[in-house]
Amino acid sequence: MKKLLITIDGPAGAGKTTLSRALADRLSYTYIDTGALYRGVALAALYAGIDPEDEAGLEGLCRRLRLEFIRTGRGTRLILEGKDITDQIRTPEVTMLSSAVSAKPAVRRFLLDVQRRMGENKGAVFEGRDMGTVVFPDADVKFFLDASPEVRAARRYKEVEGVTGQTLEEVERDLRIRDRNDSSRSLAPLKPAPDAIRIDSTALSLEAVIDTMLAHIQTRR
Ligand code: C5P
Repeated sequence: MKKLLITIDGPAGAGKTTLSRALADRLSYTYIDTGALYRGVALAALYAGIDPEDEAGLEGLCRRLRLEFIRTGRGTRLILEGKDITDQIRTPEVTMLSSAVSAKPAVRRFLLDVQRRMGENKGAVFEGRDMGTVVFPDADVKFFLDASPEVRAARRYKEVEGVTGQTLEEVERDLRIRDRNDSSRSLAPLKPAPDAIRIDSTALSLEAVIDTMLAHIQTRR
């Protein structure tokens, strides 16, 4: 069967990660979490003491950065300069920093190449903010997943509860700031591609969304 390249874009907490993983699983495709790459750059900048507003510093950092995914018995891990940083990129500090560095042209340019190389063989589900608009404008199937801000904050809170120590109010505040940053930046802002299939998951179960997505994918195969 023809191998497709599938993109899922949308704001934080819309359910992209769970759905992308489930879809990739059902189709035996590779799942790529591009947000993890932005988080990896943010953590590298933090380690190197580079301010997120320092364009030249970030450009230099990207030039020498060795950031890759590897598949292991414990699932896919993100490796920075040979070190496993999969868990370290999930802190609230790195989360906010990733949104700041993602607005910088040098960072987006660097990751654009990285992501396109990962998509060369198709048979993959890419999750992010600009997958269908910028990175893979010719993707075979594009989804834009959304949900109400309240539901997104509640879902994100459930994920981080007891892990980061954040309250629901803090999670909501961070989500709002990131939404604003990611949607208003001039470069590759978060928005649906004109040909994206839009799904609002506010009142839908995971299974219902997967079924809808699979039905769309079936028509393109
Ligand atoms: O998806 P996740 O929440 O892990 O992404 C972290 C941050 O990385 C987002 O807030 C966004 O600023 C940035 N990002 C992006 N483009 C992508 C994926 C993530 O700008 N394709």
